[in-house]
Amino acid sequence: MKVLVTGGAGYIGSITVERLIKAGEEVVVFDNLFQGHEDAVHPEAVFIQGDLADKGAIEAAIAEHRPDGIMHFASYTLVGESMERPFLYLRDNITNGLNLLESAAKHNVKRFILSSTANLFDDPENMPITETERIVPGSPYGESKNIMERYLYWMDRLYGMRYACLRYFNACGATEERGEDHDPETHLIPLVLEVALGQREKIAIFGDDYDTPDGSCVRDYIHVIDLAEAHILAMRALGDGPSRKYNLGNGRGYSVKEVIQTARDVTGHPIPAEITARRPGDPDILIASSDTIRRELGWQPQYADLRTIIEMAWNWHVSHPNGYTK
Ligand code: UDP
Repeated sequence: MKVLVTGGAGYIGSITVERLIKAGEEVVVFDNLFQGHEDAVHPEAVFIQGDLADKGAIEAAIAEHRPDGIMHFASYTLVGESMERPFLYLRDNITNGLNLLESAAKHNVKRFILSSTANLFDDPENMPITETERIVPGSPYGESKNIMERYLYWMDRLYGMRYACLRYFNACGATEERGEDHDPETHLIPLVLEVALGQREKIAIFGDDYDTPDGSCVRDYIHVIDLAEAHILAMRALGDGPSRKYNLGNGRGYSVKEVIQTARDVTGHPIPAEITARRPGDPDILIASSDTIRRELGWQPQYADLRTIIEMAWNWHVSHPNGYTK
């Protein structure tokens, strides 16, 4: 299969490309390197530096390479930023996504995987969160993914494009060669590891008065390799099956304090922590039910244990203390 991966120089995209190539697939990466890193692009992938805002560029890439499927990772991805700069999300994520969908439809691409998000479920009635949970986007970021999910419904109905929407919970971990390098970094695990590397004095715990066993927020941390494998399984399943939506997590939650303590155990560093104010918009607990993808595709996380996740992330940070160099 030939797969075009938008955002294939970013964190989850680049690791999915690594796994696709390992699985013997052909890959074309399309990335503007705004947040991604050229060094993260697998050397066996064809790399096109291009911007989805440029409709001609993405259409030319699809026309030239004629992919069997598309995995769409490229977007603005920060919940907090989207509350402050909503139009970046409500306009750019959507118009760029539409440029991609229109080109894909025109060139008869029949399989599409969307990076979607747990931020669709801001007010869940049940925990763990299943695919039948009602959708209440928690931010303009979540809304931009919700709109993309809706557009895909029409791609399927009008063009026979089969799609899978994968709603990620907290992606984390690394492979030996690729890991998490955002600027600015906002995610808990890489920030905690920056403290252990001596690059940051302490970690802030955003609130310890939540309705959870230790008072800090509980999240479902899923290893990026397990996420990547879910993309590959879904892409293959779309060949002869219907479109689908899956929630992707480990199915068990860890608190912010548990993450920090595990990182102390793994790194041997005391990792000073300080309780600060709550971060606006954080719910107490978010845990995914991934029963549907387990049942339908036989997906099984290989790195579900928090200690393993943090060990793998730590190994990458130690070998790449300044992230990607380019
Ligand atoms: N968090 C924290 N301190 C930080 C960064 C994050 O306490 O410096 C908490 C955050 O409030 C949330 C959890 O860690 O409960 C995971 O946050 P992250 O930003 O990694 O992912 P999100 O859940 O926002 O996707």
